[in-house]
Amino acid sequence: MTPRYEHDCPACTFVGIYKEYDLWVCVDSPASHSSLIARTSDEPPDYSSYPAKLFTQVLYERLMKKEEIPEHMIATGVCLIQAITQEVLPSDLSLA
Ligand SMILES: [Zn+2]
Repeated sequence: MTPRYEHDCPACTFVGIYKEYDLWVCVDSPASHSSLIARTSDEPPDYSSYPAKLFTQVLYERLMKKEEIPEHMIATGVCLIQAITQEVLPSDLSLA
């Protein structure tokens, strides 16, 4: 699988595709600064990004408040699953 859109960050690893989103994981130092990225075009600002460490907590809180889960968050959830499955996230990152 190859990314459809340009994503110019040497710290990022492509982990897959979900609907219109290309999914990337940006591994940073310290590990807690690593992020999950869902990109929808070649244009530099066309992406959403969540800190990997906080994403599950943010998603959980929205679900508990019965708030709508926007599509880019669902894409980010798939990104997290792929990141864990492919062992892309730093091993010292403890997910909340
Ligand atoms: Zn990156």
